[in-house]
Amino acid sequence: MLTFNDNKAGMGGLDKEKITKVIEENTSASYSSFSKKQQSRIDEKVAEIKNRIEKATREEKQKAENSMKNLEIKLEASRDLSRDCVCIDMDAYFAAVEMRDDPKLRTIPMAVGSSAMLSTSNYLARRFGVRAGMPGFISKKLCPELTLVPGNYPKYTKVSRQFSEIFMEYDGDVGMMSLDEAYIDLTEYVANRTEKRIFTRHRYGGDCPCWLPRVPEDEDIENLQFEDSECTKCSKNRRAYFDDVEFGVGREEVVREMRFRVEQLTGLTCSAGIAANFMLAKICSDFNKPNGQFVLENDRNVILEFLEKLPIRKVGGIGRVSEAHLQSMDIRTVGDMLLQKALFPLCFSPLAQESFLRTALGLPGRPSSSDPRRKSISVERTFSPTSDFQMLCDVHLEICQMLEEDIRKAGVIGGKTITLKLKLSSFDVLTRSLTPSDTVSSLEDIQKYSLELLEKEKGKEIRLLGVRLSQLVFEEEKKSKTITDFWNDAKQQKPLSSPEDADEIIMMDTRPCPICGADVENQLEILNRHVDECIQKMTDEESPELICISVETKKKVEKPVVFSKKRKIQEKKPAAKKVATIDSFWKKE
Ligand SMILES: [Zn+2]
Ligand SMILES: [Zn+2]
Repeated sequence: MLTFNDNKAGMGGLDKEKITKVIEENTSASYSSFSKKQQSRIDEKVAEIKNRIEKATREEKQKAENSMKNLEIKLEASRDLSRDCVCIDMDAYFAAVEMRDDPKLRTIPMAVGSSAMLSTSNYLARRFGVRAGMPGFISKKLCPELTLVPGNYPKYTKVSRQFSEIFMEYDGDVGMMSLDEAYIDLTEYVANRTEKRIFTRHRYGGDCPCWLPRVPEDEDIENLQFEDSECTKCSKNRRAYFDDVEFGVGREEVVREMRFRVEQLTGLTCSAGIAANFMLAKICSDFNKPNGQFVLENDRNVILEFLEKLPIRKVGGIGRVSEAHLQSMDIRTVGDMLLQKALFPLCFSPLAQESFLRTALGLPGRPSSSDPRRKSISVERTFSPTSDFQMLCDVHLEICQMLEEDIRKAGVIGGKTITLKLKLSSFDVLTRSLTPSDTVSSLEDIQKYSLELLEKEKGKEIRLLGVRLSQLVFEEEKKSKTITDFWNDAKQQKPLSSPEDADEIIMMDTRPCPICGADVENQLEILNRHVDECIQKMTDEESPELICISVETKKKVEKPVVFSKKRKIQEKKPAAKKVATIDSFWKKE
């Protein structure tokens, strides 16, 4: 049976039994049989996992334990606690846009979507168990007074572009994973932000309900400045209140500021997670939802403590099937994963072993070439302007050493193109690139080629020097899609099940389409193409160029650098939680 998943924010403490019953009663025979088949496949694999663990010899167990210990040491060496990664998730996005534009929808349970499928529900509707991915007619049974609003995807795309432009001011490489989810690397911005910022805040009151944000009812507004005007939408009196708000330095303040600016610009709230990497930031973004933020300290012990009691389903990429497999090894929380890690080599392929161990340690996934953010690695330094070539060579060597270290940490073999960046005392910026026939990977090569470029600029007075490696070459990555990849083939045991369900088993790099919810391979071009098609299908307007999923097309924002070292490693974003496409399995009304 389709198990009811209450992971979504606002869905804790629901009457699970009642909801599951309604879903069951409305489920077609074909879905029931699919569901049974899926369950029996899970049962078979669970039995095999238990069997393998039981039959493992002492030596095999010892070997497994040692190999996991070694892998843990290797992975720990790559732990980077120097970064400020943020995941921002808009609160009930499509529904929030509709509620913003139609005040009547704010106080009733409502959802955006069709009778075939909902794409978002508001928090009032979630109390009834109404959630994204559910057919509208079933949600009507759970919540008869539910109002269904058809989606206006060009509008959501336009609004998404508005707030992503705010994020770009803080990180020119912001990654929009969907219309409502952004990954922002604040490291550089936070390091350079030395002063507080003050913004004028406007909030609304009066008889006109149209404008957001509203001043909270219980707030003392006596001393606030205001301005009255006639609302162009409802013709009632609109009262706008003004005051100043201040944001300090440090990542939490900066994230508060970004969220404030998004709400001021769009009238919409969002939630944020702040952590040492995006995988953790994504988990954290769910902790103070809606309209809140959660910060996880960049401290190994704090991170492990945080993960200890975290249910594995809260981790992006662990779906129902992986959950069942891990549960058969007595793993319910991420902390359990770490305790039971010595069992992984007995049951899983090396790729899956590493993937699970990375999760258990709170480390991001392996770097991959399909990640749109990971285009280059660079290090640069600013200093007092000088033309002393020996001095420049010393700085240059130091930069090359840092770059080589970052490359190793990032799991990158090397890059094809090396670029030297210089800022002259006149503030003109020069870049010079070189693409040797072989991949550049060793410190010697990095130094040799970039020095070649530097020597041509001898005599210039320079204030900034940087070296960048691009067209990166990654450690060999296998596509983890076949059943043999998943099972430890060293044992030469034939898996019991057929390969066609292999996709569900491993931590697949897929994410739900922000429009239709279908699972799409998490590759920029594939995702973009799918979303383009989806939007065209669902709207009469042709608007593919409005889509802001693509980070490739965005303009770079030049940021000032104040006498600092910059090290930029662009990190892989977490795999999205797998959402089953169940649409076709429901009875049609
Ligand atoms: Zn109005
Ligand atoms: Zn779609």
